Amino acid sequence: MKFYLSLLLSLLLCSTALAQKDNLQAGGFYIGQAPADSRVFYRGESLPLTADNRFLIGFGRAAKAQQQLKLVDRAGQETSLSLQLQPRSYKIEKLEGINKKKLAPSPEALLRIKQENSLAQAARQTLSTLTGFSEDFIWPLTGRISGVYGSQRILNGEPRSPHYGLDIAAPEGSPIVAPAGGIVRLTHSDMFFAGKTLIIDHGYGLYSSFLHLSKILVEVGEPIEQGETIALVGASGRVTGPHLDWQIRWRGARLDPALWVPEMPRQ
Ligand SMILES: [Zn+2]
Repeated sequence: MKFYLSLLLSLLLCSTALAQKDNLQAGGFYIGQAPADSRVFYRGESLPLTADNRFLIGFGRAAKAQQQLKLVDRAGQETSLSLQLQPRSYKIEKLEGINKKKLAPSPEALLRIKQENSLAQAARQTLSTLTGFSEDFIWPLTGRISGVYGSQRILNGEPRSPHYGLDIAAPEGSPIVAPAGGIVRLTHSDMFFAGKTLIIDHGYGLYSSFLHLSKILVEVGEPIEQGETIALVGASGRVTGPHLDWQIRWRGARLDPALWVPEMPRQ
């Protein structure tokens, strides 16, 4: 049944916006191919198209199951497209009896965190026409997955903000490669939570962030090719051991990095 439904869905999409690549679930994405001379709208906004009419949409952690796209052809004819996201659930960890004071950062730390957040946000503002987003992503690092996207801790009954990265544990100094091509938009030597941090623009609003590094090997403005060594694993920032926290965002929505890569190769 599921097969026929997805077949029907792909037939519907073929006539309008062919899915080039997709992962239809919360935290996932959709790369579509629009017919020539058409425009694509999502949430009332016109999406930028590549030279060959491709476009990207990302779905956040709490994205609605039903997503709507609108295509407008050269004659002004509108077609609506419905994308159905697969249901998914997240890991929940409940911890009780934690000393609240230990959890709360000091006022100085809060100010610093705020400033660092705006720096990172500013670095992700450019809506560039780089096409790294459409490459077949590779793992930036292989190792034990020590944290997954979307998981949430409930401390003393209060939900904390979810974990949005994919944590890969590896010895300090292990090389990290670019999962896809792009341009370096931010390098930071020491963020409160994230430590040494690097942000790469993959184009069309898609950004990778690499946290807790020991060394950054690239500079802001530098073009990066897929597979190029960009940084070394570290334990900088608020961590308990050396690992890479890899995060992906599309225009503010936090996506699941695990949905961009194939199964991890055996080590
Ligand atoms: Zn993490």
